[in-house]
Amino acid sequence: MKIAILPGDGIGPEIMAEALKVLDALRRDGLKIEMESALVGGAAYDAYGHPLPAATLKLAEQADAVLFGSVGSPRHDALPREHRPEKAILGLRKECDFFANLRPATVFPELADASTLRAEVVAGLDLMIIRELTGDIYFGEPRGVSGEKGARIGVNTMHYTEAQIRRIMHVGFRTARQRNKRLCSIDKMNVLEAMQLWRDIAIEVAPEYPDVELSHMLVDNAAMQLIRNPKQFDVMVAGNMFGDILSDEASMLTGSIGMLPSASLDTNGKGLYEPIHGSAPDIAGRGIANPLAQILSLGMMLRYTFNLVEWADRVDGAVKKTLAQGLRTADIAKAGESVCSTSAMGAAVLKNL
Ligand code: NAD
Repeated sequence: MKIAILPGDGIGPEIMAEALKVLDALRRDGLKIEMESALVGGAAYDAYGHPLPAATLKLAEQADAVLFGSVGSPRHDALPREHRPEKAILGLRKECDFFANLRPATVFPELADASTLRAEVVAGLDLMIIRELTGDIYFGEPRGVSGEKGARIGVNTMHYTEAQIRRIMHVGFRTARQRNKRLCSIDKMNVLEAMQLWRDIAIEVAPEYPDVELSHMLVDNAAMQLIRNPKQFDVMVAGNMFGDILSDEASMLTGSIGMLPSASLDTNGKGLYEPIHGSAPDIAGRGIANPLAQILSLGMMLRYTFNLVEWADRVDGAVKKTLAQGLRTADIAKAGESVCSTSAMGAAVLKNL
C-alpha cells in the first residue's frame, strides 16, 4: 500500500503533521503503508512555478491513495487562473478520475450543541452523502443563453449515461455495506426522465447487494427530511447537482468545519482524502487549527481504499475519546471552555490510539 502525502498551503502542513504522527504510530503497530510527500498548491507554485507539478501528479497517479491537506493563499490569488493553488485539486480529480465524492456528516455527541439545530436532533448523527462528480446538468449539452435581450433563453441539460449512474450506485452500495447497510437513492423521477433512469439503474444494481436495503426519496423531500430527522439516513447517493446541495446542507448539521473529512474515489476505490475546509489563511502559522478533519481523513482512507476497517475504527475511536476527554481547539470550543493547540490535540489523539 502506497500513499502520496500532499500537505499544501496554510494550515495544511500543520494539520498534516498531526495526521502523520497517527500514521507513524499505526505503522509501528504493523500497518504496512509506504508514503512519499510532495509539494502542491501555492507551495508547489513557489518552488516549481506550477500548483500541480508533473512530479506531484505522477506520485499521486502511482499511489493507491492520496492524503491531501488544503491549498490556497491570498498571496497567490492574483495569479492567472491556471496557476492558482486551487487548480491543483481540480487537476488531481480530473487526471485520476475521482468521480465519487463521499462526505460524511458526523456529529460527535460532545459537539452536538455546535449545530444550529437542536442538540437532540443531531446528537449521534452519522450520515454519509455520496455525490456523483462527472455528469448531470453541470456538463450536459446543449447549454448556454441565446436570443435577443428581452426574449433570451437560458438552457442547461440534465444528462446521465447508464454507465455513470451504474458506477456511482456501486460506490453507494459498497459504502452502505461497510456501514449500517441502508442506501437511500435521491432522485426527481416524478418530473425528470433522466432521474427515472437514475432510479431504474439503482433498482437494477440492487440485487448484487442483497445485504443492503435500498430506498428512494425525491430530492425535495430529502432536503426537508435532512432538517426534520437527519438520523433516519445511513448512506445517501445523489447526482451531481442534488448531491452538491444536499452535502452542503448536511455538513452544516454538524456545525464544525474543522471536524469533517471527505473522500473522492475512482472506480477501483483509489481515493483522494482531505478535510472539507480550506487552508484557513486567517489562522495559519498560529498553531491553533483543528487537526481532527485531517486525522479523520486518514481514517476514511484506511476504511474506503484499503478496507482496513479495524484500523480505521481505531483512528475514529481515538478521536471520539479525545473529544470525550474535553479537548477542544478554538473552532469547537464553547464560550468559556479552555482551548488547546493543534499539536496538543494531535498528541491527545495519539495517546488515545
Ligand atoms: P476555509 O475553509 O479555509 O476557512 C473558513 C473559516 O473556517 C476560517 O475562519 C478558518 O479559520 C476556519 N477553519 C477552517 N478550517 C479550520 C480548522 N481546521 N480549524 C479551525 N478553523 C478552521 O475557507 P476560506 O477562508 O473561504 O478559504 C481559504 C483558502 O482555502 C482559499 O484560498 C480557498 O480557495 C481555499 N480552499 C481550498 C480547499 C481545498 O484545498 N480543497 C477547499 C476550500 C477552500
